[in-house]
Amino acid sequence: MSTVRTTCPYCGVGCGIAVTDGVLNGDTSHPANLGRLCSKGAALKDTLALPDRLLSPMIHGRESDWDEALDLVAAQFTETIRKHGPDAVAFYVSGQFLTEDYYVANKLMKGFIGSANIDTNSRLCMASSVAGHVRAFGEDVVPGCYEDLEETDLAVLVGSNTAWCHPVLYQRLMAAREKRGTKIVAIDPRRTSTCETADLHLPLAAGSDVVLFNGLLTHLSRAGALDHSWIAQRVSGFAETMNAAAISAPSIEFIASATGITPEDLLQFYELFARIQRVMTLYSQGVNQSVMGTDKVNAILNCHLATGRIGRAGMGPFSLTGQPNAMGGREVGGLANQLAAHMSFSAKDLDRVGRFWGASNIAAKPGLKAVDMFKAVRSGRIKAIWIAATNPAASMPDANHVRAALEHCPFVVVSDAWPTDTSVHGHVVLPAAAWAEKDGTVTNSERRISRQRAFRAAPGGARPDWWMFAEVARRMGWGREFSYPNPASIFREHAALSAFENGGTRIFDIGALADCDDAAYDALEPVQWPCPKGRTHNASSRLFGDGRFPTPDGRARMVPVSGLDNELPALDAALKLNTGRIRDQWHTMTRTGRVPRLMTHVAEPQIAIHPRDAAMCGIAPDGFARIENERGSMVMRASITPAQRPGEVFAPMHWTDQFSSAGAIGRLVHDKTDPISGQPDLKGSAVHVTAVKMLWTGLLLRRPAATPDLGEDVYWSKAPADSGFAFDLAGWTELASVIRSEAILRRLLQIPAEAELVSYSDPKRSVFRYAGLLGGRLEACLFLAPVGVVLPSKEGAAKLLGRTLETAERLSLLAADAQGCMTAPDRIVCACFAVGGNSLATAIRNKNLKNVAEIGSALQAGTNCGSCIPELKKLLKDSVRNREPMDAAI
Ligand code: SF4
Repeated sequence: MSTVRTTCPYCGVGCGIAVTDGVLNGDTSHPANLGRLCSKGAALKDTLALPDRLLSPMIHGRESDWDEALDLVAAQFTETIRKHGPDAVAFYVSGQFLTEDYYVANKLMKGFIGSANIDTNSRLCMASSVAGHVRAFGEDVVPGCYEDLEETDLAVLVGSNTAWCHPVLYQRLMAAREKRGTKIVAIDPRRTSTCETADLHLPLAAGSDVVLFNGLLTHLSRAGALDHSWIAQRVSGFAETMNAAAISAPSIEFIASATGITPEDLLQFYELFARIQRVMTLYSQGVNQSVMGTDKVNAILNCHLATGRIGRAGMGPFSLTGQPNAMGGREVGGLANQLAAHMSFSAKDLDRVGRFWGASNIAAKPGLKAVDMFKAVRSGRIKAIWIAATNPAASMPDANHVRAALEHCPFVVVSDAWPTDTSVHGHVVLPAAAWAEKDGTVTNSERRISRQRAFRAAPGGARPDWWMFAEVARRMGWGREFSYPNPASIFREHAALSAFENGGTRIFDIGALADCDDAAYDALEPVQWPCPKGRTHNASSRLFGDGRFPTPDGRARMVPVSGLDNELPALDAALKLNTGRIRDQWHTMTRTGRVPRLMTHVAEPQIAIHPRDAAMCGIAPDGFARIENERGSMVMRASITPAQRPGEVFAPMHWTDQFSSAGAIGRLVHDKTDPISGQPDLKGSAVHVTAVKMLWTGLLLRRPAATPDLGEDVYWSKAPADSGFAFDLAGWTELASVIRSEAILRRLLQIPAEAELVSYSDPKRSVFRYAGLLGGRLEACLFLAPVGVVLPSKEGAAKLLGRTLETAERLSLLAADAQGCMTAPDRIVCACFAVGGNSLATAIRNKNLKNVAEIGSALQAGTNCGSCIPELKKLLKDSVRNREPMDAAI
């Protein structure tokens, strides 16, 4: 029995996974998760054999081979550079890259092509934290480690739905709270699952974080909680910052009015922070994704610097990174404004990196950041772009303009493992190896480098990203500089560069790993940086506790910040659109959207809206809404919930054209960015919301995944079922306009001409049911009915798909009573054991279940990955309050 130890490819927690004879489990020896996995990690085994992989290079839609495709990419990039200069080309890469992929792509663009036009989707995730760290500490460094979660007495979670987005860290925090009584304060405009379990929830108005933390800073001063001796010796900028804070947050009444938080709750938070020494502030996209994200980060860092609560057990600011290897990308210079190994574009650093790489044409200045990069594609300044392992046609703000830019770009290369909204724009599409097939390293939020190890062969012609970039470099004339035989050789060079002429000036130094041979690389245990030559490097490390910072004077810098980012949206009567993650999906759903059990928790794109706003817009419970602004329009189901602040709406970032007629919410998001970090404001766009009155609803089940062609007046949303796909349908024009002929019906069902089509129709009631059978086996079925008539349950009907049906079963299906087809749907809460909210509420009530452990004993829910525990606690709370259980769907 052999075990391969690797790392989860989703979020920045960086959990270890042990694969033994094809069975995946949490790696009990990995320090990030100690064996735990969340719902996404626990379902990874279901993503291994996903269909529809890209298997061969494609050129203009025609199947090709690697030589032809790579020759073409190299020739087009070379020719574009010759004619228009190096800044006419760009790479847009990904936090899904392994460090080795990142290193090679960055070296090629910055060292040899001679442009810094390489940026990454991590720009959308944590660029403001990077900029804030550099301003305050002199280098992009997270001071703490995960063990601090077990040693803190107060955890302040800001703009972070940790329970859903970093679930394993949240479970560690919950376990610590059980032991030591850690207090938890959640600061978030929405009442998320995380807020449900917090001791105090501060529902601040979106964008008012700087005022909130400036108010905290002035309170800490008044309360005598500042460490003046530490400030005198270790910090600069104190007086200016205190002045700015006093002006920005002059009184508790002012702060209450700006943030929308009651003075009582504000004071409770401020007093907790002042009183408790061991305090951590953990923050994520709610802080970073803003036009003043960098200032928000520094407002948080200022409070820790002024109290000296940094770099010691259980205390400090902590940026939770979204992606598995956002941190690795930062190490190698994957952002357009970094060089490599935490070096900048200063003359000294350019000279140093240029000599190390043997690069005669090193980029002299920073390149274009993500939003500006795609604007340059649109304006024609960039004429050739390579997009790797990311889906900007869905995930970028103002996504319609990104699509238009790619449509008009003379040469677009897309490398990915699956087709996406972006790959349809690729002149050349290159098949990339996926997670289980790739070897390399990733770095998680606590600076811990872990090996990702392949445990399956890549299918067809799929190849790792580093290999593609090295092959193109070779074809462009730099064969010697890119002659890497394997990822280990790339890692050694990366580690050596981190130590090159370092002399303690840069904290990012992993020189101790530069001499590891292939066997040592293969056996590399998770290790936190810094690990310079000669230092033992297996213990958890904290930084800055000694008060030394990598700035010219060795002091940290408090940064004066002020202002609000919550002015009323520009459109009249508009609501503020916040976008973000849901529990069981990852990014644009290329993997998680194809796993049936991960689509049961939230099956459709939903806009969360407060009851007051829903009433003003005329939206009924379970109704639909049109969300629109000058950039576009889309229809989604509405989730009416008091968890949402009035005046603000929330939509998930995950859905794309592959999964719903609504498509990517990025289409409606404005392209404003933070002026320092370049991070887009994905949480502050203005939208109009109006009710859409559906006339009919429907359910389509069929085997093929292809998106249905139903015209512009029909809403659809796709979810995988065990033997095919289920589509929820709804329309706001007469049903007759959808099914106009048998040919259209057969196309919708995607059944061949020889398939048998059976039907039931009641034109008077406008109820129609169809089933397509091939050799007696159910290939597809379609149920249509006016709004108000109950449709068969998706789960019940899906069980019949692919099965041979006897005559009685066919009749039963058309009568919609087969296999419990008429059972009312039950939204799944525990994805691991498929336990729904109604079943849970009934069991809690009837069996008098009092806690999560009792629910686990009775129904198994919450006993595997634990991602649903916050929702179980809410159901228990609701049961006590005798309230409706599912009032906060997303
Ligand atoms: S918390 Fe979940 S998604 Fe994140 S790394 Fe761990 S298992 Fe993967």
